[in-house]
Amino acid sequence: MTSLFVPDEIKDLIKQGAIFYISHSGGKDSQAMYSEVCKVVPHDQIVVVHADLGRVEWSGVQDHIRNTVHHVLNVVRAGKDLLGMVKARGMWPSAAYRQCTSDLKRGPLFKFIRADLKRRGATIAVNCMGLRAQESNARSKKNPFSFNKMQSCGTRTVYDWLPIFNHSTEEVFQIIADAGQKPFWAYEKNERLSCVFCIMGSLNDLRHGAERNPELYREYVELEKEIGHTIFTKGKTPIYLEDYTGIKLEGG
Ligand code: SF4
Repeated sequence: MTSLFVPDEIKDLIKQGAIFYISHSGGKDSQAMYSEVCKVVPHDQIVVVHADLGRVEWSGVQDHIRNTVHHVLNVVRAGKDLLGMVKARGMWPSAAYRQCTSDLKRGPLFKFIRADLKRRGATIAVNCMGLRAQESNARSKKNPFSFNKMQSCGTRTVYDWLPIFNHSTEEVFQIIADAGQKPFWAYEKNERLSCVFCIMGSLNDLRHGAERNPELYREYVELEKEIGHTIFTKGKTPIYLEDYTGIKLEGG
């Protein structure tokens, strides 16, 4: 059983009437974060937002969020989609330069936050994300609470908060169980959840994604061949998705 560490800055922001925007992907970390934040932030200061990635995300994810939150789910969407973006650029995003995250998730999310704050006549936003230190070396170096200078201006102050930054994977699943809920069904086999074929996805998740979403898999495989650029490399050598996963297209 874990209890959420709430920095003094967050306690002050709650008193000041800040609006806490839960960026919810439908994944286990978002689900646990929502549960934890609800324990410390008043209901009417919480807003749930999902950045819809369209057909590249697991279908049913939005229903899963709706079934596990007690707030209205706000769905935001970029004016373009991942595969269209890749086709136009002739290349896939890389882990170092995740144009997909910035254009398809962060951009629409902050646009929503700016408009929503204005609509409410509120001036302070806390952008809550379910990132955890344990996920990667790069993530472990992040600051769990920080001022977001880029999004702040004379009439608006925005902070970033990673409420479950120090939680372990076991604690995350425990929080979900304690809330009487289950994680999204794909966790039966998946380690992480977001785009079915994430550019940083594990082999396990990519294979499971291909088994369960053969049509989408075909689109990725064909797009790689069309643009002549691969998502993954083996060492420094490009490797096509079919060879990487070992799952060949039928009739391909
Ligand atoms: S889940 Fe992966 S591929 Fe999808 S937007 Fe995020 S980083 Fe990009």
